[in-house]
Amino acid sequence: MQRILIASLFAAMTLLIGGSPAASRPQDARVVAITFDDLPFANAAAIERTEAVEADRAIRRTLVRRRVPATGFVTENNVRALGPDGLAILRGWLRDGLDLGNHGATHTDINDLDAAAIRREIVDGEATFLPLARSMGRPVTFYRFAYNHVGATEAQRSTIESLLAERGYRLAASTIDTSDYLFDEAYARAARDRAMRRRIERAYLDHSRTQIRYYQALNKQVLGREPPAIMLLHNNRLNAATLDRLVGIFRSEGFRFISLAKAQADEAYSTSPAFATRFGPMWGYRWARERRVRVDGSLEQEPPKWLQDYVKTGVASGQ
Ligand SMILES: [Zn+2]
Repeated sequence: MQRILIASLFAAMTLLIGGSPAASRPQDARVVAITFDDLPFANAAAIERTEAVEADRAIRRTLVRRRVPATGFVTENNVRALGPDGLAILRGWLRDGLDLGNHGATHTDINDLDAAAIRREIVDGEATFLPLARSMGRPVTFYRFAYNHVGATEAQRSTIESLLAERGYRLAASTIDTSDYLFDEAYARAARDRAMRRRIERAYLDHSRTQIRYYQALNKQVLGREPPAIMLLHNNRLNAATLDRLVGIFRSEGFRFISLAKAQADEAYSTSPAFATRFGPMWGYRWARERRVRVDGSLEQEPPKWLQDYVKTGVASGQ
């Protein structure tokens, strides 16, 4: 729930004057990098291992079959929760030619951590996946903090910048968020209700298309062009059931799929976030603030009310 309000809160704080004229350059072909957080599997401690293994396999099968490069961000606690299956999932990602990055040891919110604790979160997050990636000759480039945070104060932000540089990471950006974790919570609740699961899948895919369009328009308003997009997803059951259709939505919106490294080679990502925030806004909002472009985050659509009610109470409103 916390993250749903972030965009509007953040935009409300971004009451800056001025605006930069849109650069006149031809529309680049749309490209997107797909990323999955919370590997080996989201909510690993609360899920049957066999279910996690099967759902992860479905996600990878879709990625491979549809030739979609992806980066999975590993949380060491989730590896431990799944035991040998967690390790097997990570190995599967690397074998399939997918990339892994670091998502921290415990998924703790860094806003409240001191420098030593943040360092531990980064270093302990490497325990399983980094030796594995190295043994398979695969590069590891990116770090993404839990909740997409980058430092709540200027001191913390610059500490993080040095820690990541010291460990050889680039901070992973993200430009499109669909609150897929919330739809997945609803999906888990509807485990024995097939009709509700279909309804949640449809709502999620509709919301995804809306959010893709919203964020592309936001980035274009701020930068005068659409930089490579970076989609933030979680490795969960909902995406196992819907990823093929989500890939179809991206294609129908004119996107090609590229790696995260390729996406972040674009100059829009050449500098790290220039300001501290307690929130985890998508990069469009960060760019807006850095460039003093006024944007209206209240235009961003939230997941449907009935779905939010269903997550809270088990009853979907408005049926
Ligand atoms: Zn996460």
